[in-house]
Amino acid sequence: LKHAPQAHSTPPRKKARTSGPPPPSPAKAGIQEHRKQLPIAKGKDALVQEIRANDVTVLLGETGSGKTTQIPQYLLEAGFADAGMIGITQPRKVAATELAARVSVEQGTPLGGLIGYGIRFDEKSSAATRVKYMTDGMLTRELLGDPLLSKYAVIIVDEAHERTLRTDLLLANLKRILRERNGKGEGKPQVNGKGKEREKDRNPLKVVIMSATLDAEKFSQFFSNAKIIYVKGRQHPVKIFHAAQGQTDYVDAALRTFFQVHVDQPPGDVLIFLPGQEDIESLEKSIQMFARQLPPGHDEVLTVPMYAALSGAQLHRTFAPTPRKTRKCILATNIAETSITIPGVRYVIDTGKVKEKRYLAGSTGGGFDTLLTRDINKSNAMQRAGRAGREGPGFCYRLYTEDAFLGMAASTEPEILRCSLAQAMLQLLCIGQDIQDLDLMDMPDVDAISSALRTLFLLGALDSQRELTDLGRAMAALPLEPTHARAVLASKDLNCTAEVLDIVSVLSANGALFLDATDKRAEIAEARRKFIHRSGDHLTILNTVRAYRAAGGADGENASGHVNGHGDGEEEKEEKVGRSARKEWARAHFINERTLREASSIRDQLRLSCTRAGIDWRASCGEQEDPVLLSLAHGLAQNTALIAPDGSYKQVMGQSVVKIHPSSSMADKKVPAIIYDELVYTNHIYARGVSSISKSYFNSLGAFNRREA
Ligand code: ADP
Ligand code: MG
Repeated sequence: LKHAPQAHSTPPRKKARTSGPPPPSPAKAGIQEHRKQLPIAKGKDALVQEIRANDVTVLLGETGSGKTTQIPQYLLEAGFADAGMIGITQPRKVAATELAARVSVEQGTPLGGLIGYGIRFDEKSSAATRVKYMTDGMLTRELLGDPLLSKYAVIIVDEAHERTLRTDLLLANLKRILRERNGKGEGKPQVNGKGKEREKDRNPLKVVIMSATLDAEKFSQFFSNAKIIYVKGRQHPVKIFHAAQGQTDYVDAALRTFFQVHVDQPPGDVLIFLPGQEDIESLEKSIQMFARQLPPGHDEVLTVPMYAALSGAQLHRTFAPTPRKTRKCILATNIAETSITIPGVRYVIDTGKVKEKRYLAGSTGGGFDTLLTRDINKSNAMQRAGRAGREGPGFCYRLYTEDAFLGMAASTEPEILRCSLAQAMLQLLCIGQDIQDLDLMDMPDVDAISSALRTLFLLGALDSQRELTDLGRAMAALPLEPTHARAVLASKDLNCTAEVLDIVSVLSANGALFLDATDKRAEIAEARRKFIHRSGDHLTILNTVRAYRAAGGADGENASGHVNGHGDGEEEKEEKVGRSARKEWARAHFINERTLREASSIRDQLRLSCTRAGIDWRASCGEQEDPVLLSLAHGLAQNTALIAPDGSYKQVMGQSVVKIHPSSSMADKKVPAIIYDELVYTNHIYARGVSSISKSYFNSLGAFNRREA
């Protein structure tokens, strides 16, 4: 295996078409023709053979070669799905849904039929589904109910080099499953009681690890020197330009670069990589403003934001064809960096920045996740540039110097070494696994493990012997973070599950609930005053959800009738009226209706989970507030702080002094004790999602969780 990171000053992919006509577009040549022309197609038979011959195959391929879309189809067409499903994991949900959509088109079947997907709170699959694109998190969840993943004949772990926490846990489990299902090391044929081999009971698993060109050896070694296959790409050349000097303001630099491209360069869409949502929103505004001031004769500019907090439908807009006489400008975080193909992109502008989650584990408790902007690494930079060469030759403008590129780290530190482990460890414990005994590619550090153990203990998921409790098992059965799951379980005893689900579904939605506009602060405050609850943000959310529901006239805001029963014609008409009334209401109150709709579909899913777990999701405490706050406080037992003499708040578990985030309805209030959803670290440590709780609950909280455990 020979490869090396490409030199920065040349196109990142050497094997490139430099002359001759461009390949026919899928629309013209027909999608089957397009499939046949992908670089991977030449190796199809050999690939299928290798995968058939080996339990584990590591497949390395340059981006655009056709790994993600084609391999599952090859295996499907070769009959691998006869013995079970073909599952293919992605680190990001937008990749799982978009790829499933693309492959459905290639197969000529409706999405959710032969080809489906599964992501948290959203599943499109059926009994007919043979190939399922899913997030790595979804598949690790499936381990809970099916520790051998026996539904699957093939598991393909895609983008393994990203080394997400879920991918790492999955890899460790796949190794175990291979041992159990394929009988490695224990004499191959399995023998039944009568001593006769029963081939049909054997249900061996095939594993394919797919990765960009880094770290292949490591995966191979992890799987006892699994076979590595290398697929050549046919990436088009991408010409790379580096900044002559370092940029202090990357948003401004991106703005200027975009307009240089727009004014001087031939048609082609532009993809700009930025670290996070705030930068995306601010750059989007500036681009729109300057675009309006361009003299006539220039193409229109269509901006499309792309970050994880957007809903699936919004993200889907990115992939729509660009209108004529228009240049699309996609402003994306690193969610657009791998896996997906955005048709039409020819120019990439790379700010060189990314936001990275990092867990600061305190040895005395009170650890928290931080989200900090940092420089990208070489692997990110190459992936980003590669996005410009998916359909034809492209250009990448790096807003950092060549020296900065050369000085970058080679690849990202595995997530398992830098994130909070509580949820993962709880899930592992449910399948009888202790993270410390797992055969992981990289072992997390002891502080992170003990911090997670403490969290689980405080939530009552573990007893003092570190044994999983019934409560812990019940928490893991809900598709929620342990803190939220704990709150839902507490609500069962306090008879307020309806209210807690309303709140937790909003907290689990991706988008923000309250919209903000600096120039309309007073107007916004006035519009929202009605539902600000004096106890803080959690009951404010509840008030908002209730007001939204009431605005529609009918009960329940779902058009789907998923939980509320079917609608006849009359009800449907009413539903339509309700929908537009709710929309209008949300607009008037500067509330993000998409978040509420997403929350509503999450709540439907949670109701089903509750029913399965024997929790009555209709149980309501009406207008009482104490039960709701108390339920939440059970989950947030570790996220509590007491007021200090100087008016700041001091964490109860941990030493940090925190301030209430300016976006909170509690921002200027002084109360004796607070609970909060999370801490964010910028120039201060801020608590976000804050409610005031009475000191008496608070004193009993730790004991509460323990006692019920
Ligand atoms: P890899 O996983 O090797 O990077 P993919 O299988 O994702 O490659 O994609 C292979 C090729 O298929 C892309 O280069 C592109 O030409 C085409 N393709 C994939 N997805 C789409 C899509 N959504 N729209 C148009 N073309 C696509
Ligand atoms: Mg891919």
